[in-house]
Amino acid sequence: MDMKKHELGRSGIMVTSVGMGVLSIGRTQLDLPLAEGADVVGYALDRGINFLDTAEWYQTYKYIAEALRTRRGAAGFTMPVVASKSLETSYDAMAAAIDDMRRDLDLDVIDIFLLHEVRQHPDFANRAGAWECLNEMKAKGAVKAIGISTHYTDVAELNVYLTGSDVIFPLINKNSLGIRRGEGFGTKEDMAAAIARNSAVGKGVFTMKAFGGGNLTGEYRACLDYVSALPGVDSVMVGLGARREVDDLVAWAEGRLDLAYAPDISHKRIRVDEGDCEGCGVCARRCPNGAIHMNEYGVAKVDHEVCLTCGYCAPACPVRAIIMY
Ligand code: SF4
Ligand code: SF4
Repeated sequence: MDMKKHELGRSGIMVTSVGMGVLSIGRTQLDLPLAEGADVVGYALDRGINFLDTAEWYQTYKYIAEALRTRRGAAGFTMPVVASKSLETSYDAMAAAIDDMRRDLDLDVIDIFLLHEVRQHPDFANRAGAWECLNEMKAKGAVKAIGISTHYTDVAELNVYLTGSDVIFPLINKNSLGIRRGEGFGTKEDMAAAIARNSAVGKGVFTMKAFGGGNLTGEYRACLDYVSALPGVDSVMVGLGARREVDDLVAWAEGRLDLAYAPDISHKRIRVDEGDCEGCGVCARRCPNGAIHMNEYGVAKVDHEVCLTCGYCAPACPVRAIIMY
């Protein structure tokens, strides 16, 4: 199936209006066996989605590589656009991250590579070496487009003026879940304004966490309708972990999904994103069932034996580190 594509900002890269977040199948969430995860990626490509998001941190290149291995060279198959990112701060570490992706995915040229999860201006300044590397890699032709991913409205605003940045991957959803600003919290209105400004100066925009990390999945269409209608959004990245979820997303993209559609999320589990958790302990105090404790690294951990999946802890987390999957 050939889903309609359009240009990501002025990058020259053509993407579908929805993309697959590959995080869901990896070690920090479903941790699917290789064949099973590759099947979901391949199925998304076969259904017409041409845009994949991954990251060095996710360790999910293997799934994409396997899905591509069985399709490269096949009649009618065109390579998807693959975006990745790294948390590294130095020039050399970022160069190594780019080399790793090129090797693991057997790519001469990477489509999109980002500074992963930039938190506030000082964080960006601390990663000057990594940003310099990305700019040089683009100048050498090893990467087509570079930019940043962020949960912060102030960082999204910074990107408007960031020389060399072609794209941005911001967090936004209709309930403002997980949006940050400085030391506090941001709003969807602030992020939407930053998105529009990025787009107005030609930066490509693809968004993350339309479902607030799984907490809003029950309002499936309303979530996607909200984000996709925002001025300047080129593509909406959605974490997918099963063929059924691919079908739902494609049906939505093709306008075939009923407004009242609500996926069964009764099987979902609560999980703490260890990279985001700041160890404040609010969730443990909020949990009515004593299902959360702080582990030896000072990070919240859920005991699934006693967790009732009531979801009370997720909105209590100030950094939205608790997600349902
Ligand atoms: S979902 Fe409910 S029971 Fe489970 S950890 Fe969160 S608050 Fe506790
Ligand atoms: S509330 Fe959020 S940041 Fe605080 S300990 Fe729990 S998961 Fe971590």
